[in-house]
Amino acid sequence: MRAAVYKGKQRFEIEEIPTPTTGPEQVLVRVHFCAICGTDVHAFLYDVAPPGTVLGHEFAGDIVEVGSAVTVWKVGDRVIGGGGDPPPGHESPTRTHPRFNYRTMGFPEGSIRGYAEFVLMEEWQPILIPEGISDEEAAMCEPTAVAIHAIRNSDLKLGDSVGIIGAGPIGLLTLQAAKAAGASAVYVSEPAPERARVALELGADAVINPLTQDLQTEIDALTGGRGPNIIFDVAGFPSTLDQAFNIVRHTGQVVLVAVPWEELPLRPVDWMAREISFKASWGSLPSDWHRAMGLMSSGKLTVKPLIGDVESIPLEGMQEAFEGLMKPSNQLQVVVRP
Ligand SMILES: [Zn+2]
Repeated sequence: MRAAVYKGKQRFEIEEIPTPTTGPEQVLVRVHFCAICGTDVHAFLYDVAPPGTVLGHEFAGDIVEVGSAVTVWKVGDRVIGGGGDPPPGHESPTRTHPRFNYRTMGFPEGSIRGYAEFVLMEEWQPILIPEGISDEEAAMCEPTAVAIHAIRNSDLKLGDSVGIIGAGPIGLLTLQAAKAAGASAVYVSEPAPERARVALELGADAVINPLTQDLQTEIDALTGGRGPNIIFDVAGFPSTLDQAFNIVRHTGQVVLVAVPWEELPLRPVDWMAREISFKASWGSLPSDWHRAMGLMSSGKLTVKPLIGDVESIPLEGMQEAFEGLMKPSNQLQVVVRP
């Protein structure tokens, strides 16, 4: 099969590699679409994925082969490449290891995932794509689950105001999830015009350009000088976390959703007196994937504007796409079609 193999030093190569053999309790999934995640871009940018790895965890496809002991799947079932409940002993180390460190323990050597024609999965791993959801939308189930997890992890209560820093795919999904959870108003900070336009289309009450406007002044004007109850940092740039602490309301909460790989300068004296709280939100749980599918099916949350006009790219386009995504980007969601 063909796969985009990470070779180290910010290089992908499109190679012919062996198609995995399906074991008794496994299924083989043909990948139709795999969305490029910010996490993959970080793995590329900081060169932390082990050479030989095939990245890509936001994929949808159909089952083309089932193992002899598989009971729940048949050939032709449309699935998302994750979201299944792990049986005892198979839980993610992220959730079970007491000292899990994503930077040093996050990228297993030699794993073959969605930037390939086929992915081998355990029977319990995938979940079914409901009728009425396209494969391309279904590929966005994981980032949607991340946004839902962030909201559920936060102190958000009905009628709270929310600030979102960064309107990339996860920011735009967090915006919708906040609205669906009953936020009274959602204010977005985003410099890229196309992302700002989609944020407004998806219900943002205001979008502020932090490069041309003073974020604090604008947010103060929108919130009667008090700041939003909760701010989600979905950008993770060196300046944004401190910015979030500075802007959030007295005793409010800052939730970090983006994954910064660099040290961040913070000046706590500027915001400590407001007794704000901080919460990190990490990825998602299988239950969040099911919630994501449910909210997409009911129309409470949509990924269509994120993938709408974007042409999916072949594996050959990945090198260029990743190089583009390393820089501050106007792009929404890039989807690979292996
Ligand atoms: Zn992801």
